[in-house]
Amino acid sequence: MATLAAQPDFSEKVRGFLNRETQLLIDGKWVASTGSKTVETHDPSTGKLLANLVDATDEDVNRAVAAARRAFDDGRWTGMPSAQRERIILRLADLIEQHAEELAELEAIDNGKPHFFASHVDIPNAIAQFRYQAGWATKLNGGHSAPSSAPEGAFHAYVRREPLGVAALIVPWNFPLLMAALKLAPALAAGCTMILKPAEQTSLTALRLGDLFQEAGLPDGVVNILTGLGETVGDALVRHPDVDKVAFTGSTNVGKIITRTAADTLKRVTLELGGKSPVIMMPDVDMEQATGGAANAIFFNAGQVCVAGSRLYAHRSIFDKLVEGVASAASKLKLGPSLHSDSQMGPLVSSEQRDRVLSYIESARTQGASILTGGQGHSDHDGYFVQPTVIADVNRDMKVMREEIFGPVVCATRFDDLDEVARHANDSEFGLAASVWTKDVSVMHKLAAKVKAGTIWGNCHSMIDASLPFGGYKQSGTGREQGLEGVMNYTETKTVIIAL
Ligand code: NAP
Ligand code: MG
Repeated sequence: MATLAAQPDFSEKVRGFLNRETQLLIDGKWVASTGSKTVETHDPSTGKLLANLVDATDEDVNRAVAAARRAFDDGRWTGMPSAQRERIILRLADLIEQHAEELAELEAIDNGKPHFFASHVDIPNAIAQFRYQAGWATKLNGGHSAPSSAPEGAFHAYVRREPLGVAALIVPWNFPLLMAALKLAPALAAGCTMILKPAEQTSLTALRLGDLFQEAGLPDGVVNILTGLGETVGDALVRHPDVDKVAFTGSTNVGKIITRTAADTLKRVTLELGGKSPVIMMPDVDMEQATGGAANAIFFNAGQVCVAGSRLYAHRSIFDKLVEGVASAASKLKLGPSLHSDSQMGPLVSSEQRDRVLSYIESARTQGASILTGGQGHSDHDGYFVQPTVIADVNRDMKVMREEIFGPVVCATRFDDLDEVARHANDSEFGLAASVWTKDVSVMHKLAAKVKAGTIWGNCHSMIDASLPFGGYKQSGTGREQGLEGVMNYTETKTVIIAL
C-alpha cells in the first residue's frame, strides 16, 4: 500500500482562527456558554485536534431561541424593505467570496476533502445559493382571488405570503458551509430568523461565517449559531415551543427522530436524508465518458455525498469492460491529506465513519461478494482513509445494496433490459437521485419517468443548481430545497376574506 503524503502546514490566517476561543453567536455577539462542556474537532487527514468547540447547554439554546424570536417578532428583519434584505443577502455572498480562500482551507482541514474541491465546489456553490435566493426576497408574493361561492364584489379576498418565523437549521458534515447555505439563504430571503446548528465534526466554517453577518448588515439575532451535539442541542431546538420550523439534512434515522419529536409542537419540518442512488449504464454509452462518470459519481468527496452513485447497473453487454474501467480508475485515484495539491481523494470525516464503511465492506466479503479493488483502510496512518472500493457479485439482499454506506464504495450489478433496470433502480427505501447514461433520447426519457427519485441526471451525476429543486422521494426526505420551492418552505400563506 502506497505511503500517503504528509499534511502541509496551515496558513497563518487559519492558524490565527484556530487559536481563537470558540464561542456561540447569540443576538449578534460572540458569547461564552453558560456551561463548560466542549466537543473536539479533528483534522481527518491526520487525526490531530483542531479546536475545542462549545457544547451548548439547554440554557444557551433558550437564549439563542429567545434572540431569534425577538428579532422575528419586532420586525427588524421581516419588516425591513425587501429590497434592503435582498442587498444584505447579496453583501453576505460578496463577503463569503472575499474570504473564499480562508473558508476553503478551513473546510478542507475540518472535513478532510481535498482543498481543490472545497475551493471549486463547496464555497462557490454556497455563494451561489445566497445570490440566487436573495432575488426571491423582493419577488415572493401572495395573490388575489374572488371567492367562488359569492357574487362578484361581495367580498375582497387575498392571500398573504408570510415568513414562517423562527427556523432551526440542522446540518451535516459532508458539505458543511454549502449545507448551511442551502438553508440560511432561503430562510433569510423569506424573512425568517434562525438558529444554525452545524455538525459537531465540522463547525469551523459556520463559525467563521458568523463573523461576517454584522459587516453584511444583518440585524442582531437574525442568525444565531449554536455548536454542540445533535442529541442535546439539536434535540432541544426541535422540541423548543418557540421554534416554528426545522430544516434538517442528515441521516434517515435522525430524520425520523426529528419528525417524531417535532410532532409534539407540530413544527413545519423539511428533511434532506440519505440515498442509495442508482447509476444506469445502457449498452450504447461512450465507454470512456461512462467509466469516468461512474467513478466520479461514487468517489467524489470520498463517497460522502447524499446522491453518491452507490449502485452501478451496467447492461450485460458492457458490464465487464465498464466495471473493469471503474476499478482501474479507483486504483489510480491519489489518496492524500486535504491540503496536499496532489490529493484527489481525502480521508473520511471521522474514525467512526471509517470504521463504519470498513464494516460494510467486511459484510460484503462475508456475504460472498467480490472486492474488485480497494476494500481497506490505511491502518499505518492516523488519518481516516479508506481506499476507493468496487464490489461485484452482489445481490439485492446484501447490506451493502440496501443501506447507505456513505463512503467510497460502489456495488455493480448486470441487467438485460430497460424494465428490469427500472425495477432494480426502484428496489430501495430511498429515492434521492439517479443517473441514466445513454445516447438514446427515448430510453433516457422513459427511464426518467420510471425511476422514483427527486432528481434524474442524464449523462452526468451530482449536478445541482441553486435554481433547481432538490430533494427526495420515499425515505430520502420531505420537501425540496433550492429554487422557488426551496424558499416557499420557509413561508406560510394567510387568507384574508373581507365582506364589503
Ligand atoms: P446525523 O446524525 O444525521 O447528523 C446530522 C446533523 O443532525 C448533525 O448536525 C447532528 O449533530 C444532528 N443530530 C444528530 N442527532 C440529532 C437529534 N436527535 N436531534 C437533532 N439533531 C440531531 O448524521 P451523522 O451521524 O453525522 O452521519 C451518519 C450517517 O448519516 C452517515 O453515515 C450517512 O449515511 C448519513 N448522512 C447523510 C447526509 C446527507 O446529506 N443525506 C449527510 C451526512 C450524513 P451531531 O453533529 O452532533 O451528530
Ligand atoms: Mg473536524
